[in-house]
Amino acid sequence: MTDAAADFLDDDHLHEECGLYGTYGHIDSAAHTALGLHALQHRGQESVGIVSYDGEQFHSQRALGLVGDNFSSEEVIKQLPGKSAIGHVRYSTSGDTALRNVQPLFSEFRFGGLAVAHNGNLTNSYAIRRTLIERGSIFQSTSDTETIIHLIARSEFGPVVDRLTDALTQLEGAYSLVALTQKKLIGARDPSGVRPLVIGRLGDAYIMTSETCALDIMGAKFVRDVDPGEIVIIDENGLHSLKPFTKVPRKFCIFEYIYFARPDSNIEGKHVYAIRKAIGRELAQESHVDADVIVPVPDSGVPAALGYSQESGIPFELGIIRNHYVGRTFIEPTAQIRNLGVRLKHNANLGMLKGKRVVLVDDSIVRGTTCIKIVEMVRAAGATEVHMRISSPPTTHSCFYGIDTPERDQLMAAQNDLARMAEIIGVDSLAFISLDGLYRAVGEERRDTEQPQYCDACFTGDYPIRLIDRDGGGMPKQLSLLTERD
Ligand code: SF4
Repeated sequence: MTDAAADFLDDDHLHEECGLYGTYGHIDSAAHTALGLHALQHRGQESVGIVSYDGEQFHSQRALGLVGDNFSSEEVIKQLPGKSAIGHVRYSTSGDTALRNVQPLFSEFRFGGLAVAHNGNLTNSYAIRRTLIERGSIFQSTSDTETIIHLIARSEFGPVVDRLTDALTQLEGAYSLVALTQKKLIGARDPSGVRPLVIGRLGDAYIMTSETCALDIMGAKFVRDVDPGEIVIIDENGLHSLKPFTKVPRKFCIFEYIYFARPDSNIEGKHVYAIRKAIGRELAQESHVDADVIVPVPDSGVPAALGYSQESGIPFELGIIRNHYVGRTFIEPTAQIRNLGVRLKHNANLGMLKGKRVVLVDDSIVRGTTCIKIVEMVRAAGATEVHMRISSPPTTHSCFYGIDTPERDQLMAAQNDLARMAEIIGVDSLAFISLDGLYRAVGEERRDTEQPQYCDACFTGDYPIRLIDRDGGGMPKQLSLLTERD
């Protein structure tokens, strides 16, 4: 999506890059994978792919667009026979959306076929890719996931799990992945466990997926999270687990709890919705203001606004209504439509705002473009005061672990202090949850400054995994080119 389109859609959020689903041992594996990916659509809307194995050969279907637009017909599902399958939904930045990048990536090796789907971002993949290209490797995509495939192909080990372990040992960064061979479904999380991955069961079948909401959609049972640094192998003998990597402190992405994950998911033993409400309660304690209504910026601001309202005793009202049917038709609007200043996504609910002192609750401020428009809209609807409360700390740094973020010079909080931000946005007051408040909401006493319990680098600049490609110089923050020299 271009910036203009994102702006037009009032979409100023950070974007999750991917969602994963894999299943083993069910006759309807492709249909289940499509349903699971549909539940994970919030993790990526640009492309979708499924690879299945029917005991003799692999089958692959990949497309640009939403799951429902591509995998809802029986004809498509019939082309993906077999009792095992993996699938992937992906968000990508403009210019990088090409069919060749749609996952799962599938390759034939000496040992047979292998499909891989990956969520996250490898921080030394560019350096490795350059070396591999110099040694003669030919890359087919611009996805960093392909680096994993090349390393597996070149590994001197025999069995596929050893080859995968060998490849992952050479890579750094954030990854959760699922892979499919003729005989195995494999799942892995990076040693820091930045991105989520869970195990579920449906009857005798196994599932590995990004979030529990993808289990709920078909009544599958949650078994457990895949541990950081764990490789889980599922085959005809059941589930096996390996922990081959050097143990490092756990650094789950705290932003998953604030915004990325679906509120009905349960991640690492914590219910996302409950955490979002707890953030709202903390926010109310930290930055109370006398007001008449608490209004969420829908949908992502809703749980925190509920928590804020309950803690403050100020009524919760849906003062802004979101249109849920904004689809791809308007993603590239014409200049003529853009110039009308049409707000496709949000509209003020006049009766709830007129003559009121309003506290608006949202989850984050990235460039600030959405906030400005929403505040203007709320004031135009007759609010007498507008106070903004944000359920994340100020986003001051880019993410290098799989979330699409603008450069720092475009992050409003990296360029302005609080007073200036309030002025630009046009609010009477502005407050963000403190880092310690956020940590209290996720169940910690405070943020451990020596060894933070989570990755919170986009708020602190404290990157827990080395940024080898970036620090090597001249490297785009997310790998996107085959080679910079061609
Ligand atoms: Fe999550 Fe921010 Fe860390 Fe990226 S930098 S993994 S968005 S907490």
